[in-house]
Amino acid sequence: MDSDGRPRKGNLSFPRLDRSTAGSHHLGVSFFITGTDTGVGKTHVTRLILEGLRKTGIDAVGYKPLACGDRDDARILAEASGGLPLDEVNPVFLKSAVAPYVAGLLENRSVKPAELVAGFQSLAAAHPLVVVEGAGGWEVPVAANYRIADLACDLGLPVVLVAGNRLGALNHILLTLGAIRARGLICAGIFLNQLDDELDTAMITNKGVIEDLTGVPLLEHLIHGQDFLDEEVLGKLPG
Ligand SMILES: [Mg+2]
Repeated sequence: MDSDGRPRKGNLSFPRLDRSTAGSHHLGVSFFITGTDTGVGKTHVTRLILEGLRKTGIDAVGYKPLACGDRDDARILAEASGGLPLDEVNPVFLKSAVAPYVAGLLENRSVKPAELVAGFQSLAAAHPLVVVEGAGGWEVPVAANYRIADLACDLGLPVVLVAGNRLGALNHILLTLGAIRARGLICAGIFLNQLDDELDTAMITNKGVIEDLTGVPLLEHLIHGQDFLDEEVLGKLPG
């Protein structure tokens, strides 16, 4: 946001680190989890956030608007949300393990964005904090002329980016942040997720340069297999 509270449109210059979202108390604001790619750990991070917040007494729940191929992610989030019904956590399920738009073509069924928004609204009406997990990365096509980015815009939520830590992650992080900012949305933080036990030079050095390159707080560098988030990390989530 600029000083007048307007979203910054098309800000690609990555200025100073924005610490406005950092704080020790989490007040409960819903947010949208996206990834630098599919398979980078969005569900893992979302589950850890939900479990961590619920342990502190916040009725945080997960929302997986679209599932393609299987509903495993949605089941994980439903369980981490205190056992919500699967259909509430995941209103749209397509059987083909491809992008939602393509799955819709294959199954002769088009995804209706209004249904995705309505599912969020009913969860948000009953719970103070909803963590939305997108499908794949930021520009994944959901329907003709509708992408994951459009859903994030329609929900109007701050975005948290999960990046798989590997050679190439910096490029994917910068591309995704540029696209988030071009939509006038705020990226409130980045999780760098270690997908492997073995570290190469890129993986070791990535975390040291992300904040300077992006102006976005690095919320956590998750080691491979890490199954918890510190309270300090939870306190830095949007809110
Ligand atoms: Mg997932």
